[in-house]
Amino acid sequence: MAPSKKMPAKQTKKQDALNKEAFKLIAKLEKAKAEIARGKAEEAMLVGEHESKKAAYAREAERMDKQKEAHREEHKNKMKKLREETAKAKKKLDHVRFQPVEDNVELKLEKEKTNMSQQKGRMIAAERKLIEEDVRKNGGEPLDWQRCQICTEPFDQDRKPKVLKCSHTFCSHCCKRFHKNVAISCPIDRITTTVRLRAIDSLPENLALSDLCL
Ligand SMILES: [Zn+2]
Ligand SMILES: [Zn+2]
Repeated sequence: MAPSKKMPAKQTKKQDALNKEAFKLIAKLEKAKAEIARGKAEEAMLVGEHESKKAAYAREAERMDKQKEAHREEHKNKMKKLREETAKAKKKLDHVRFQPVEDNVELKLEKEKTNMSQQKGRMIAAERKLIEEDVRKNGGEPLDWQRCQICTEPFDQDRKPKVLKCSHTFCSHCCKRFHKNVAISCPIDRITTTVRLRAIDSLPENLALSDLCL
């Protein structure tokens, strides 16, 4: 009886188990390789990140240095300008201090003032002449604008034109008439001007009117 060429069943089973083990090991190896590759890639990424961060820090440091330099320069310029301005002001002051005082400045000013008031007087006189003409044409009666709007009496030394807070002008008599409690209520717009009865004479006078009426 020839011996069987087939391996005994027991041996085949053992071979299968070995094969399985080998496959498992290969799979593990592949996994490990992949992990290593991933690790390397990660490391490369981290290195890259680190490098770019380093570059960014370097740029930031450079920027700050430049800024500091610019601030220093600005400060220097400011100080220089300030010093120059101070020197200029001092020079001006010295100039003023050592300039002989012109003693006739006040005199000149006084003269100018007199000139102006004389001119104003002449203008008013001319205006009054024209108004007198108008009054004459009006039969000797004062013109409408020369009269108080309320009582229609002409303004005069006794009936001075008084200006209320609302800017309306009435004669002092009417102001007294419309006075109630401690105020005058404007008969046109009802705006009140707070004033004591005794103080009505001290209300501001409408000088533009007085000049041409009184
Ligand atoms: Zn008024
Ligand atoms: Zn009046």
